[in-house]
Amino acid sequence: MAEKSVTTITLKKINKKNVYQYIYRKRQTSKQQIVQDLQMGLSTVSQNLNVLEQEGLIERNGYFESTGGRKAQVIRVVPDVKIAVGVGLLKDMFHVIAVNLYGQQLSSATFPLPYSSTDDYYEKVAGKIQEFILEHRYKPDQILGISFATQGIISPDGACVTYGAIMDNSDMVLSDFALRLPYPCHLAHDSKAAAYLELWNRPTLDSAVVFLLNHNLGGAVITGHAVHPGSSMHSGTLEHICIDPKGPLCYCGSRGCLETYCSANALESAAGMKAEDFFPLFRKKRDERLVRLWEDYLDHLAFAVKNLNMIIDSPVILCGYLAPYFAQEDLDYILDRINLSTPFPLSRDKLIIGTHGQYTPAAGAALFYIEQFLQHSI
Ligand SMILES: [Zn+2]
Repeated sequence: MAEKSVTTITLKKINKKNVYQYIYRKRQTSKQQIVQDLQMGLSTVSQNLNVLEQEGLIERNGYFESTGGRKAQVIRVVPDVKIAVGVGLLKDMFHVIAVNLYGQQLSSATFPLPYSSTDDYYEKVAGKIQEFILEHRYKPDQILGISFATQGIISPDGACVTYGAIMDNSDMVLSDFALRLPYPCHLAHDSKAAAYLELWNRPTLDSAVVFLLNHNLGGAVITGHAVHPGSSMHSGTLEHICIDPKGPLCYCGSRGCLETYCSANALESAAGMKAEDFFPLFRKKRDERLVRLWEDYLDHLAFAVKNLNMIIDSPVILCGYLAPYFAQEDLDYILDRINLSTPFPLSRDKLIIGTHGQYTPAAGAALFYIEQFLQHSI
């Protein structure tokens, strides 16, 4: 008897989850459609819809155009009944973003604050996040959690940073944030969070090499529809691939890493100006020096893309801070360079530009809690 009731409860939960996930996937649907596609009885579907509606997870809003007979009511999930907050920590600032259950950006902000391994820093970050939440009137029970994307390799259990040469944050631990915020907290490597966002935006993507074109270069590898962590969590750190053993010194201690050629820092310091000034100036006036600098940047990027594409035969995604500045002609230039001489040409559709610019890692980090909710909390 006890066994039977457990089975009934489990079945009820499975049905509820299936109905919710179906509505989530369809975005808009009707009761009849659910009955038909999930092959469930009308009364089971009705019961589940009532429960989901009472819990505030779905809403019935408006009617579909009639195809004869009674108009069907539109059913959809309430996309912001739960939200997640993502934070992108950088050396001199941090970005905060709130996303809904579809991963769509609801709000964002940037706070200038130099990183330091001090109580004062962590207090300020926590304070600004709380202000951000208050300002946008998000309710505490609406927030699934706060996920921090930081530069640096994270331990396999997610509790601490194990390598943090850029920010000098090798002693950062998750509890630095978690103890100061009344929400679940999570720590992620910024490049892997960025790759996760790209994967989320492209559900059919199986594999990819992801370049995070931030002030410091980052990278990640996607295989089998998952971000590849690596046995010591540093898969995809393409920024330290050596381009020239006699090249400029990298912060990691080696010379000629891709970081020293393709990070936004490398470009901005060579140009003597920020990207927001560099690109309009370069595109409008075609200043010789700036054209040379940009072509030099693209040459090195194409070199890396070509080589990495030999290891992983997949699309290549360029995302992060510099991505919004890329024009069609830049992608054509990179493809020309790659395909000038190669046994395996890269086609235009395999070179993809990300869409979230500098918020990419923060948005990707936030998805950790959205995914967790969709998989385990309904
Ligand atoms: Zn390096």
